[in-house]
Amino acid sequence: MRVGFVGLGAIGYPIAQRLAERYQVAVWNRTAERARAFAAETGAGFAASPREAAVGADVVFTCLPNSPEVEEVLAGTNGDGLAEGLAPGSLLIDLTSGIPSSSRKIAEGLVAKDVGYLDAPVSGGTSGAAAGTLTVMVGGSDEAFTRALPILQAFGKRIEHVGPVGAGHALKAVHNSLIALHLFGLGEALTTLAKAGVTPRKALDVINASNGRSFVSERLIPERVLTREWPRTFRLALLDKDVGIARDLMAEVGIEAPVLGLVSQLLHEAALTLGDEADHVEALRIHERRAGVELSG
Ligand code: NDP
Repeated sequence: MRVGFVGLGAIGYPIAQRLAERYQVAVWNRTAERARAFAAETGAGFAASPREAAVGADVVFTCLPNSPEVEEVLAGTNGDGLAEGLAPGSLLIDLTSGIPSSSRKIAEGLVAKDVGYLDAPVSGGTSGAAAGTLTVMVGGSDEAFTRALPILQAFGKRIEHVGPVGAGHALKAVHNSLIALHLFGLGEALTTLAKAGVTPRKALDVINASNGRSFVSERLIPERVLTREWPRTFRLALLDKDVGIARDLMAEVGIEAPVLGLVSQLLHEAALTLGDEADHVEALRIHERRAGVELSG
């Protein structure tokens, strides 16, 4: 089995590492240095263009910021695009947290070349990728899903076929908007409680023993904010993008979403203030600044 992989970012890199342990992999990354380092570390092949990563591959993965970047890489310039290298009968699996309507457009474009397509965004973070415990939300045909399943098991633990092409991207965007809701809700809750004399640690101890808890309260804030470690694993700009996709989807299907609309606006402002490299959890720095308290402990 030969695998092509495009996009060795924060989560693409560890996913590709797990694939390279099992399959013959060729990698392409926009910054070639990262692909060369990956090839040297894992024994994978270095591809000089997206087309080269796809040539001879049975399955090709993309893991880029958003769908426009996937479309850009598929098209390429001067014949070096990914689509150029995809062989009839091969399968493109897009791990990007992308846009449902774009994934449908991409899939339709590949039909003429007899190339299958799945949108398969992931959840579980960079540590889950390294451990092979990601949740994978797959949109596409039964046939393509059945073909992909054993390969997705290289890095996924819970792999769900959630509907037709675009369904994976829809679920992922809506899921991530829930992370944003929890982050912003807890930012307001914990700064309020700090000012009311309840330490963040004590507040979280009680919340996490009660029904208002979430992954954000149980893991992200204790491990990243209270410790002041603020690791950078998933950029705030990417969460901002995900919430935007969810908001657009809600408008498209005619759902009014005033709560998400407000969170989306606050999140976008936070992303602009904190910059392109800030981690998503750093959104809480905005709450700290506004309230004049530090959520440590
Ligand atoms: P990063 O920002 O760390 O990496 C982005 C990757 O895309 C890099 O390889 C980058 O190349 C490449 N890239 C960016 N723009 C272009 C372009 N125009 N053309 C070609 N390549 C480009 O992102 P992540 O790895 O964190 O995220 C990838 C996807 O996975 C996103 O959709 C994200 O929402 C999703 N995701 C991320 C998670 C995480 O924990 N990080 C968790 C779950 C999903 P270069 O090296 O040159 O910059």
